[in-house]
Amino acid sequence: MHELSIANSIINIVLDEIKTKNLGEVKAIGLKIGAISGIFPDALEFGFDAIKLETVLCKTKLEIEVIPIAGKCINCSKSFEVRELVFSCPHCQSTSIKMEQGEELDITYMEIAEELEVEDG
Ligand SMILES: [Zn+2]
Repeated sequence: MHELSIANSIINIVLDEIKTKNLGEVKAIGLKIGAISGIFPDALEFGFDAIKLETVLCKTKLEIEVIPIAGKCINCSKSFEVRELVFSCPHCQSTSIKMEQGEELDITYMEIAEELEVEDG
């Protein structure tokens, strides 16, 4: 399952961040997924919830935002949101379109709990 390996890499990225920045408990991870990235948010969340149990992220929530598909018309240069997968420009009806948005997968934020009391020796 494609989503499982994505969930795994998200967890690894966040675990790295925790280590290098000495962060406290991560309460939530915000994620942006493009509508045509081919990732199923439900499957990704399911995979994340399964893998996190073996890590310090076992209480972390994954908050997924799906980014709509945006296109830009090469003919008239206007940008628009693509709905119902009709790939034509609503402004001039041209079908010469460059995809501008909709394929991303980004970690947008990490919500960190109150600072841990770090014992410094
Ligand atoms: Zn146009």
